[in-house]
Amino acid sequence: MAVSVPSYRSNLQVPDVANAYFTNRYPGYRLVSYQCNEQTKSLSVLVLEPLLDGVVCPRCGAYCNRWKDKDRKLLINDWDIAAGGCIKVVVPSRRLRCRCGCTKTEDRPQWVLPGHLVIKQLGAFVQKLLRHRISIEDVSRITGLDWALIKDLDKAALQLAHGGQKDLSRIRRLAIDEISIHKGHKYATVVMDLDERAIIHVVEGKRQVDLQPFFDRLQELGIDKQIESVSVDMNAAYPKLIKENLPHAKIAYDRFHVMQQLNKQVLAAAKVFSIKKALMTYRNLPAKQRKLPQHKRARAVAVQCVKNAEWLVITDQDLLSPDRQERLRLLRENNQLFADLYAVTAKLKTVWRACSEQSALSVLNECIELCEAIADEHGFDDVRKFGRMLRRRAEGITAACVVKFGTNILEGANNTTKVIKRVAYGFRDFEYFALKLLGAFLGIHYKQ
Ligand SMILES: [Zn+2]
Repeated sequence: MAVSVPSYRSNLQVPDVANAYFTNRYPGYRLVSYQCNEQTKSLSVLVLEPLLDGVVCPRCGAYCNRWKDKDRKLLINDWDIAAGGCIKVVVPSRRLRCRCGCTKTEDRPQWVLPGHLVIKQLGAFVQKLLRHRISIEDVSRITGLDWALIKDLDKAALQLAHGGQKDLSRIRRLAIDEISIHKGHKYATVVMDLDERAIIHVVEGKRQVDLQPFFDRLQELGIDKQIESVSVDMNAAYPKLIKENLPHAKIAYDRFHVMQQLNKQVLAAAKVFSIKKALMTYRNLPAKQRKLPQHKRARAVAVQCVKNAEWLVITDQDLLSPDRQERLRLLRENNQLFADLYAVTAKLKTVWRACSEQSALSVLNECIELCEAIADEHGFDDVRKFGRMLRRRAEGITAACVVKFGTNILEGANNTTKVIKRVAYGFRDFEYFALKLLGAFLGIHYKQ
C-alpha cells in the first residue's frame, strides 16, 4: 500500500534546513567540519566555531577579538539520532588577550550544561530516561555518558523535585526506622508518614542529635502534639526521644520490627547454635562410631536442614512454595529447637491480630513463657533474652494492635532501601541516597 507523505510548503532549501538544525542545537556556532567513525561510517565528531570572532571582555566591557591559545579546544558530549549514538562536539576554548590586560578563558557556550561537558538537550534527555525508571547503567549504555555524570543529573532533578520542605501539616502516624548504609558503620534514619505512605525525612546518623532537628521542626510548625503514634525499631533508643518531643504519641512496635529482631537475635543465633551442636555431637562420638555412615549422614542432615532456616520460619507459611514448605517440614522434623521456635514465631504473629490490647497482652505473655521454656529446654539463652525484651516492650507491642497500620509499608520501604543502596552507591553520596529514598516513596496522593 502506498504511503502518502504530507507535503510541507516551505521556502527553505535543504541546506537551510540542515543549518537550521545546527543553529537550533548549537546557537551562536556554525559547523566547520565533521568526522565519521571509520568502521561504522557514522558521525562521530562535529567541529564548530563561533559565529562571532570575538567576545565582550568581562573586565573592561570592550569588544575584544585578540586571543592567545587559539587552539585550545573543549570536547562536549552530545547524542545524535542521525549518528545513532553519542558524538563529540568540538568548540574552541580560547583565552582573551584584551588591551586591558584581561586573560580570562572565554565562557562555555550557552547550550552547554553548567559544570558539565554535556549539551543541555542531552541532559534533558537523560533526565527523561531516568524518570521512566531506566537504571543509571542503562542510561549510561544508551547515551555513552559517564555513570557519575548521569548520577549528577539525576541528583539535580531529584533535588528540584523533592529537595524542598515537605508538607507535614497532616501527619498523624509515623514510623521511624534506622538503616545501615555501610556494613554497620554508617547509619541513616528514615521517617515515614504511615497514612500517606510517604518518606518525609531522611537524615544521616542514628543518634538523638541527628533526629532532634526534625522534632524541632515539628514543634516550630506546631504539629508535634497531633502525632498519635510512632512505630519504631526496638533496638534503638527512640522511646525517650519520642516521649520528650511528641507528648501525645504512643510508641508502637509493629510486627515487622519485632520479627526483624526475632530474626537477627534469635533465629540467626539458633542456626549457629544448631550447627555447633551437631558438630559437637559428632566429635564426641567414639572414634570407631564416627566412621559409621549413619553418623556422618546425621551430621550432614543436621547442617543441611538449617540452611535458610530463619527465613523458612519467619515467612508466613501460605507464602512459601510447596518446595519450601517441604523444607520447613524437614527442618521441624530434624531440629527440635527450630520446631519449638516455629511455634513461638507463629504465636507471636497472632499478637498483632488481636482485637484488643488486653487479648494481645495475654497472647504475648504466652509467647514470653514459651521463650523461657525453650531456653531452659535447649540451653539456648538468646531466646530468653528475646523473651525478656518482649516483656520490657509489652506496652508498645500491644499498642501496635490498636494503632493498626500496614507492616507491608515498612517492609516495602526496607526492601526498596536495599535496592537503592545496591544500585545508587548511596553511601558515597548521602544526599543523593536520601533524595532517591524521598523520590521512591512519595505517598499515595502524590501527583507528578
Ligand atoms: Zn578588557
